[in-house]
Amino acid sequence: MLIVMKRGHTEEELQEVVREIEKVGYRPHVSRGVETTLVGAIGRGPTPELMEHFRALPGVAEVIPISKPYKLASLEVQPFPTVLEFPTGKTGGGHVMVAAGPCGVESREQTLKAARYVKAHGAHMLRGGAFKPRTSPYAFQGLGLEGLKILAEAKRETGLPIVTEVLSPEQVELVAEYADVLQIGARNAQNFALLQAVGEAGKPVLLKRGMSMTLEEFLMSAEYILSRGNMRVILVERGIRTFEKATRFTLDVSAVPVLKSWTHLPVWIDPSHPAGKRDWVIPLALAGLAAGADGLIVETHPEPEKALSDAAQQLHEHEFAELMDKVRRLVAALDKTLATPVLG
Ligand code: PEP
Ligand code: MN
Repeated sequence: MLIVMKRGHTEEELQEVVREIEKVGYRPHVSRGVETTLVGAIGRGPTPELMEHFRALPGVAEVIPISKPYKLASLEVQPFPTVLEFPTGKTGGGHVMVAAGPCGVESREQTLKAARYVKAHGAHMLRGGAFKPRTSPYAFQGLGLEGLKILAEAKRETGLPIVTEVLSPEQVELVAEYADVLQIGARNAQNFALLQAVGEAGKPVLLKRGMSMTLEEFLMSAEYILSRGNMRVILVERGIRTFEKATRFTLDVSAVPVLKSWTHLPVWIDPSHPAGKRDWVIPLALAGLAAGADGLIVETHPEPEKALSDAAQQLHEHEFAELMDKVRRLVAALDKTLATPVLG
């Protein structure tokens, strides 16, 4: 349920409401707006008696049930966008960020090269999988710990925060030591034990949409993370399975405006995996931003033809530079901001 405080309520009244929420075993989520303060009380099916109890507390204006199955993710509980801040930029609330880098960390040389040029072209974060979720058990699985160490070196040199994938709950602690953002891949988007584990890891999470998930299911996955006390979640539309075979997946551009009307969380687009082919990555990225996305996560490789995974879709450096140039112009046309990371 959602508790709407009266205008001009006191801090003591608010704290009393929070204490009462905890007393009945619910989780409070306070959001302070300019006009009023809202307190989400998250728990299982509040009874009319319980709602009445809260209605009678001093300072409370209204108590309303939250209509959506996802609670903490909903715009009802937090009617303003979540803005996540990194040393290189922000995402959400009109701020756009770009994460870029290879699909997988393959070597020190390959990753450092990519890190240097994505930074030079204005990216805000370095992506790269150290643990790769591959459809075939015989395909390149990533360098593991060695890959994480290479990412750490790239971060030390460039200052770019790192986003990298975690595949299992047991890996979360290790990956969280190196990552600034923990990536949950499409194939793990409903691995509820993993979602709970990253909810407790104290790091922002980039959650990909599963390839056959509805948007409501996607937000329920985000809710698993939020309900563990981690409100720093980025949602990523990365294409879904449809009957179309020309592209690797079908980018669901409509997911962006729909999600943004349902949730306060930042919504990003991954144009690489739906395209499956580098020629189509730039148009999909621009379509996503035009639809309102708060960021991009893009694959680029110093020698894409030699990549050990997703070779066909990774951009060459010059194509990444072209993308960033177009992104800058589009973001300006949309009256949004794209931070210019300081080159160090
Ligand atoms: C990736 O980002 O390299 C990846 C495996 O993505 P997805 O989980 O969206 O397939
Ligand atoms: Mn990939």
